[in-house]
Amino acid sequence: MRDHRRIGRELEMFDTDPLIGAGLPFWLPAGATVRHALEEYIRSVERAAGYRHVYSPVLGKRELYELSGHWSHYRDDMYPPMDVGGEQFVLRPSICPHHAVMFRSRARSYRELPLRMAELGGMYRAELSGVLGGLTRVRAIQLNDAHVFCALDQVHDEVAAALDLIRDAYHAMGIAPARYRLSLPGEGGKYVDAPEAWRRSVDMLTEVLRASGLPYDAEPGEAAFYGPKIDVQVADEGGREATLSTVQIDFHQPERFGLRYVGADGRRHRPVMIHRSIIGSVERAVAQLLERHEGALPAWLAPVQVVVLPVSDAEWDAAAAFADRCAALGLRAEIAPPEHGALGARIRAARLVPYQCVIGSREADAGLVSVRLRDGRRLDPMPAGELAARFADLTGAHRPELWPAD
Ligand SMILES: [Zn+2]
Repeated sequence: MRDHRRIGRELEMFDTDPLIGAGLPFWLPAGATVRHALEEYIRSVERAAGYRHVYSPVLGKRELYELSGHWSHYRDDMYPPMDVGGEQFVLRPSICPHHAVMFRSRARSYRELPLRMAELGGMYRAELSGVLGGLTRVRAIQLNDAHVFCALDQVHDEVAAALDLIRDAYHAMGIAPARYRLSLPGEGGKYVDAPEAWRRSVDMLTEVLRASGLPYDAEPGEAAFYGPKIDVQVADEGGREATLSTVQIDFHQPERFGLRYVGADGRRHRPVMIHRSIIGSVERAVAQLLERHEGALPAWLAPVQVVVLPVSDAEWDAAAAFADRCAALGLRAEIAPPEHGALGARIRAARLVPYQCVIGSREADAGLVSVRLRDGRRLDPMPAGELAARFADLTGAHRPELWPAD
């Protein structure tokens, strides 16, 4: 069985310690490198799509969550309040309330809409110890979150654009969704009572799904307490599903926070809030990546992208120069020196590294580098400078394949 906990331990990516607590993993250098690469990718595609990034604190006063509705609908999953000088603070169970407050921090005009506010930030869930494990059930979550504040007639395009970002990101990560799910409210008092808003937002999500041609299943009982969602489901080896990405329409929080913008008619209108996450939490995304690829991550995400293997000590200078050249182009390059063993053994040890570059005496004399790709393909020796530039182009393009097919 592919298990991200086993793979993560073998590759020294993350771990936990009982003294820190269950469900609170820490990221070791290799894992932190993957996480940085993922976060940089997300921020760059969001910037290109018109999102602006913000930071907000990971706690807030209890009143904030009473206003958002989390306190009455979601309290079981929240950490208990902390008393500080007569005020009560809670670790936030979601980022939305902070962003709603930031939207209303000054007057807004229709010209600013759609206003796309993004944050890769922490949120906290009071899970019981029994259900915790690896990166998939955690108590501290780093969410790739964003909220789009927009007018009613902008909702369709914004939801469709978010689905496009999700599709592109999955392609870059080499992940295929198990299915798309239209998550509807179920029975019970878990959901806010606003039948007209629910009907409207379900209609809008259904319309986007139909227009996009994506197959989906509608499922009651899976909505957020404030609105319906499109969930992108992924599955592990055992067929167990989890939600990675989500797009939600929310009429509830804009009303609770009294959000307004001034329209072209000079009147005040209420914006709609779209909650969307492209890759979900970085914890769950990395778990999915490790299992899907058995640790052999796409080159742009690999902790080490280029390993340089001098055949003997005589090629050390050429190897060091090539590794430096790669590093100068932003690549993560390492040398596997001859004292680590025979060439075959060093190549086996570096089997997860996408680009394995061998430099023998012939290559060193001619300024060339021989390349083996992780999948076993061998390329003709190439000039060192040209090859390093190719690696930088390939990894910078965030594509799942190691090398273009001939
Ligand atoms: Zn939200």
